[in-house]
Amino acid sequence: MFFYHVLFPLAISKGFVYHSERELDLGTRVLVDFKGVERVGVVWSLADSVDYETKPILEVFDNRPILDQEFLESLKFFSFYYMTHEGLFLKSALPKKVFEIKETIDFSPLKPHFVLSQEHAFDLTDEQERAIKSIKLDEFKVHLLFGVTGSGKTEVYLRIIEELLKLGKKSVVLVPEIALTPQYIKVFSDRFSKEAISIIHSRLTKKEKYENWLKFIRGETSILIGTRSAIFVSFENVGLVVVDEENDESYKQDNQPLYNAKDIAIYRAKKKEIPVILSSATPSLESLHKAVTGKFNLIRLTKRVGSVELPEIRFVKLEEGKFLSNETVYAINQTLDRHETVAVLINRRGYARYLVCEKCGYVFRCPNCSVSLVYHKESASLKCHWCDSVFDIPKTCPRCGSFDLADRGVGSQKIEEELKKIFPNAKIQRFDRDVTSKKGEFERIINDLHNGKIDILVGTQMLSKGHDVSKIGLVVITDFESLFSIPDFRAFEKGVSLIIQTAGRSGRKTRGSVIIQTLTPSTHLSEFIKNHDYYGFFDEEIKTREMFNYPPFCRLIRVVSSSVKAEKSLKLIEDVYRVVKDRFTVVGPSRCPVFKIRNKFRHHLIIKTNAVLKAIDFLNREIGRRDGIYFDVDPISFF
Ligand SMILES: [Zn+2]
Ligand SMILES: [Zn+2]
Repeated sequence: MFFYHVLFPLAISKGFVYHSERELDLGTRVLVDFKGVERVGVVWSLADSVDYETKPILEVFDNRPILDQEFLESLKFFSFYYMTHEGLFLKSALPKKVFEIKETIDFSPLKPHFVLSQEHAFDLTDEQERAIKSIKLDEFKVHLLFGVTGSGKTEVYLRIIEELLKLGKKSVVLVPEIALTPQYIKVFSDRFSKEAISIIHSRLTKKEKYENWLKFIRGETSILIGTRSAIFVSFENVGLVVVDEENDESYKQDNQPLYNAKDIAIYRAKKKEIPVILSSATPSLESLHKAVTGKFNLIRLTKRVGSVELPEIRFVKLEEGKFLSNETVYAINQTLDRHETVAVLINRRGYARYLVCEKCGYVFRCPNCSVSLVYHKESASLKCHWCDSVFDIPKTCPRCGSFDLADRGVGSQKIEEELKKIFPNAKIQRFDRDVTSKKGEFERIINDLHNGKIDILVGTQMLSKGHDVSKIGLVVITDFESLFSIPDFRAFEKGVSLIIQTAGRSGRKTRGSVIIQTLTPSTHLSEFIKNHDYYGFFDEEIKTREMFNYPPFCRLIRVVSSSVKAEKSLKLIEDVYRVVKDRFTVVGPSRCPVFKIRNKFRHHLIIKTNAVLKAIDFLNREIGRRDGIYFDVDPISFF
């Protein structure tokens, strides 16, 4: 008799013990009775014989384990590293349908699907050629492809993928959610044919996800293009992982398990001894520091392909209380006269529109969260962007009864409204999460943009991502200061990166320009930005990080407590503090910047360490999984 822990895709660790007459491979899909219901689970590990009566494994599916050894061991490591339940990683790792199909799935790999590529329509630049030569196909190495926007980074990894295809090897390409557009996929399908590609992202149905996943596993397709969760795929026969726009925050999942797909890519590639390409015009300071100090291979592309110069960037003083300066309006007019598109970036992370009582100053706040409600004029409602609650707009102030309610702050709807007044004949399109949440709208807007159907595009951070549109002649950044007003040691990095990325959207065919509206035109950042000098910015910023001992000079583990009672939350975090205070450098404990979310009060503390694995081991042992406490290893947000 053999005993095994069988794991389900739930918030549980290790799984439950079952027995089998025959020996099974770990990672195999099986059917068991779980609390009277037949469930599909995965044989997770060997169990010692137990002194209670165990149930039998009812059925063993498939002709081979669904998780091979590398994959299974990696998942176990990730649950240790991110300090969360193994079942949650199992859930992330496999399509939902895999746990619903109660029969054998045939995923034996087919012979590699050979796809002949097209003739190359253009020659590589010297820089591209050198880049390709420096990437060895048969060894683990992280290559940081750091190239200005328009320098042909994609072409570099397309050629590597092509080499691998000839060797019968597959490739995985990770892309931020909002950069995964039909235009992006077309670059691949033009080169390799549609049949060679599987696509996985969150807007697919359960069935589509499963089918695309299966095709890649079986080797019917050779290239997987996907968002964050696509990193959880069998690496059998995979020869390369690309993480495009590697600095993008969407690689970090913001609910449990709080993993970062970029780090997972590197970890798995190392085990499989294959190369990883991290690509960006504005790499994260951590990656760039590793490249500069020799841990990663630094590949720089400093020139744009073709003769188009990088856009001219100007800072323009914005008078207080205004949305657009006269200079900005003049430049927009000129751009429209040239029949080019204007992109207007408004940062909603900094602040948004809110409703205030003019008489007593009362600000309408979410009753569940400690944030102001955002005023949405279109739907005549107040919305909470943290808990998604929606409220009708009240007639009077609940505090003083005044009818005198006014909206303040700048949001994309307000800017859109202002632009319509100033440019009544222009076709203006808003591009933010509210608009694109409607099915098909995202694709429609991107297509309209490509077809020149939009004069002015008003959007949030979504504008900055990889939409290579030659028709954008001018980019306006409406409020420089708001980009830096977040409680985060990475605020400058995120702000500068956003500006340089957004600026890179302009002038792909003829030289474009960028206007940055600001209250204080000369800051220490303006020279770096004007010169598109991200490396210079890095050089300066890294000194501050070192001085204050922040990543990459240490690693961070954030511990967050939460409870419906504020005192309980405080007590939870103080208990953790007592355990960690003598062992680590600790910032806090304190209230989280957003103290209340969904009716739960929150406190946090941040551990700084230079031995992160030891620290995690300690925390796993001494604190472990506690109700009301969660860990965020290598956090990227501190709200
Ligand atoms: Zn009032
Ligand atoms: Zn709320």
